[in-house]
Amino acid sequence: MLVQMLPDTLTKLVQMSDATQFEPAGDQPQQERRHALYQSHSLDECITHVSTPKGKRKILKAMVTTACQMNCHYCPFRAGRSKMKRLTFTPDELASGLDTLQQAGKVEGMFLSSGIIKGSVTTQDKIIDTAEIVRKRYNYKGYLHLKVMPGIEYDQLYRLMQLADRISVNLEGPNQERLDALAPKKDFKRELLGMLQWAEAIRREHPYQKLAGTVTQFVVGAVGDTDQELLLMSNQLYHKAGLTRAYYSGFHPIEQTPFENLAPTDPLREHRLYQASFLLRDYGWKVEDLPFLSDGNMQLDMDPKRAWAEMHLRSAPIEIMQASREQLLRVPGIGPVAADAILGARRQGRITELSHLQKLHIRAPEQAAPYILLDGRKPVRQMDLF
Ligand code: SF4
Repeated sequence: MLVQMLPDTLTKLVQMSDATQFEPAGDQPQQERRHALYQSHSLDECITHVSTPKGKRKILKAMVTTACQMNCHYCPFRAGRSKMKRLTFTPDELASGLDTLQQAGKVEGMFLSSGIIKGSVTTQDKIIDTAEIVRKRYNYKGYLHLKVMPGIEYDQLYRLMQLADRISVNLEGPNQERLDALAPKKDFKRELLGMLQWAEAIRREHPYQKLAGTVTQFVVGAVGDTDQELLLMSNQLYHKAGLTRAYYSGFHPIEQTPFENLAPTDPLREHRLYQASFLLRDYGWKVEDLPFLSDGNMQLDMDPKRAWAEMHLRSAPIEIMQASREQLLRVPGIGPVAADAILGARRQGRITELSHLQKLHIRAPEQAAPYILLDGRKPVRQMDLF
């Protein structure tokens, strides 16, 4: 029975590869879409490399169904769009497909999403059933990233968190107003933000259980959303809902949708949002520290840390021998590892030259040079010598 089913499953997965490019599983959604330009109609198109808590992994991207009863304005799976081929898998098919590919060494995990058919709760049950089979029948211990449907039940969310390594609740917009413009049938607070808050409550209720981390994704640039709005919400989720990571997916117009004539988002905006998001999550920055322009967006031609340093450190450089860890993390080119290395080295002796920073494994001390003092003096840069 299983052997007869497998070729169909793999053929269907290949047929679904066109569709899964629109369901980004990693941190470079535009990259995943670009693969579509070179379609070979092979299984490789359903496989993508993503960063997981255990490093980069080859992941199978699959969907329970590419049909959907909803009408989100930007989405290729929206109801009534004839250009989307509709395919549906059973949980058995998906689980056996993953097992086959995993045994063949083709993948090391799965990202499973779905359009919504017969409501969120019924659709979510299909994702949960698939994961149950994968974990129990196939005894699969590898990476599973499962999508949370909007407005599911508390017990479903808890079960998902037990089965998965990562779950995603995609907010899409940073607030109800932006979400209304993107996905008019979704309720921001109850169906989306509420899921992220429940996930954190579940983690607190079960502190000794291994439970999935939570991520979210925003669709950037279609409905006037600003960087400030997106980063405010990301920061709130990092600090209050235990979010592991916010993903920013630059809008890309899809034919036969209400947004087909809108301009695509510059990929550089995604990149700048990630840089700012890491400053909030890993560097102790506050949203108000970020260098927003008057329209609430960041400049594209300079990374946010350097833009801040240009405004604040150019005329008041930081003394490396005395700066606190927090101050060191404000300097371009100095991250958490470098800041700790500097603090350690300072106890051993004086840091007086850029070459000393290089010895501390700071890859590009030149980047830091305009914003620091070394033992009271501006550092002499290699290029300054010529
Ligand atoms: S619910 Fe999801 S799959 Fe369905 S139209 Fe909206 S974004 Fe697309």
